[in-house]
Amino acid sequence: MEKINSREPQLGERIGRRIIFFPLPLQGHINPMLQLANILHSIGFSITIIHTKLNSPNPTNYPHFTFHQILSEFDEYSDILSLLTMLNEKCVEPFKQALSELLGDKSGDPIGCLISDAILYFTSDVAKSFNLPRIVLRTGGVASFLTFAAFPVLLQKGYLPIQDSRLEEPIIELPPLRVKDLPVIKTSQPEKLYSLLHNMIQETKSSSGLIWNTFEELEQPSLTKLRQDFPIPIFPIGPFHKHIASSSSSLIPEDQSSISWLDKQANSSVVYVSFGSIASIEEKDFLEIAQGLESSKHPFLWVVRPGLIRGADWLEPLPQDFLDLLNGRGHIVKWAPQVEVLVHRAVGAFWTHNGWNSTLESICEGVPMICMPCFTDQLVNARYVSDVWGVGLQLENGNLERGEIEKAIQKVMVEKEGEEIRERVLCLKEKASICLRPGGSSYESLKSLKNYISLF
Ligand code: UDP
Repeated sequence: MEKINSREPQLGERIGRRIIFFPLPLQGHINPMLQLANILHSIGFSITIIHTKLNSPNPTNYPHFTFHQILSEFDEYSDILSLLTMLNEKCVEPFKQALSELLGDKSGDPIGCLISDAILYFTSDVAKSFNLPRIVLRTGGVASFLTFAAFPVLLQKGYLPIQDSRLEEPIIELPPLRVKDLPVIKTSQPEKLYSLLHNMIQETKSSSGLIWNTFEELEQPSLTKLRQDFPIPIFPIGPFHKHIASSSSSLIPEDQSSISWLDKQANSSVVYVSFGSIASIEEKDFLEIAQGLESSKHPFLWVVRPGLIRGADWLEPLPQDFLDLLNGRGHIVKWAPQVEVLVHRAVGAFWTHNGWNSTLESICEGVPMICMPCFTDQLVNARYVSDVWGVGLQLENGNLERGEIEKAIQKVMVEKEGEEIRERVLCLKEKASICLRPGGSSYESLKSLKNYISLF
C-alpha cells in the first residue's frame, strides 16, 4: 500500500497517540487484529496489545508493540460457545485492572482509544467506565454480521431454530440465503448462542465506530444496509494482510515444507485443502476426503491440524501406505504458511471451510474455492462465494462422498465452469488490489479512520 500522504503526518511519523488492542484469543481473530495493529502502527500510532495467557501471541514477532497479559483463569471448556461466553465473564475484572494500570501510566503517549473484537462485548461497559472510546473490529464479513443482527426476526418468523424439513427454503429477508445457510452452530444450548450474538450486536451499535476487514467493492450492498442499521462511523479498510508485510501470528508452527513441496509442482495444478483453526470433522468424512483427493488425480497439499479429526490425535485413521502409494502427489502438514501457499504459482484451487480470513486470502490471490462450510459465519461466506461472487462452488451438505469430491475438484480444476470461476476471482483480486491504492475505497477509509482516532 502506498503512503497516506495528505496534510496529515506521513507514514511512520508519530501521531503521539497510543491505541490499545484486545483480540479474541482465537487464530482467526488474532491474525486480523494484529494486522490492523501493524497498519495503524505504520501510520504513526503507538500500540499496546492486551491479551490472555490462552493463545497468547508471540511478542518477539512484534518488537514495535507493547504487550500486556491479563491474569485470567479459565475453567475447562467443552466447546467454542462455552469458551466465548466464559471469556466475556471471566475477563471483566482483569481487563479493568489492565486498563486502569495502562491509563494511569503517564510516561508514554496518551491513550486515544480501545479497539476490541466484536465478540468481546464485555469490553464496552469497562471502556465506558473509564470514559475510553471503544472502536469495534469485526473480523468476519458484513453479510454474515447482518445475518446475526437479523436473528430476532429469524426467530420470530420461525426460520430459527432450524428445522430439517425447511433446509432448502429461501430466506426472503436475506437473499440469497436459504435456511441451511443460517450461521448457527450445533449446540444443546441455542439460547446461549442467541444471547452472545444479541450482546455482540448491541455493544457494537453502542460503540464509537466499526472497522472491517473487507472492502467496499466486495460487499457494497451489505455495507449500504449496515450503514442504515448501524448509524456509527464505519471503516471497511481490508484486505488487512495486503496493506503491509507483517510477521506471522500463527499459534502453531508453520511447516515450510509446504512451500518446498509446492516448488516441485506444475503451475495451477495443486488443490490446497485446509479447514482453518477450529473446525473438526468425523473420521468417516476425513477418510472420504482422503479417497476423493486420491481419486481426483490432482496433486494436493492438505493441512490436517492436530484435533481436526474427532477422536484422533493426528493421522492415525489414515491407512499407513496412503501417502506412499501416491508417489509424492500428496503432501500433508499440521499447519501451513497459508498466505504464502495461496500466493504460490502451483496452487490451482482452495478447498476451504470458508472462515472469513481464508475466504478473503483466497480472493486476494485469485484462487478459486471449493467450499465446505462447517458452522456459523462460514455458511454465509460460502453462499456468497458460490452464489453472489461466483468465485467457488459448494460441496453441498451431505455430499461428502469421494465421487462427489472428485467431481467438484474436476469441475474447478479443468472444466469450463472452473475457467469461468477463475476469471471472476481474478477480477475480484484486481479490485482487492485497487482499493488499497491512493483514491481506492479502503485507502480512503483508512485515512478517515486515522483522522477519526487522532481526534480522541
Ligand atoms: N492459517 C494458516 N495456516 C493453516 C491454516 C490456516 O496460517 O494451515 C491461517 C489462515 O491464513 C487464516 C487463519 O489461519 O488467516 C484462519 O482464519 P479463518 O477465518 O479462515 O478460519 P478460522 O480458523 O477462524 O475458522
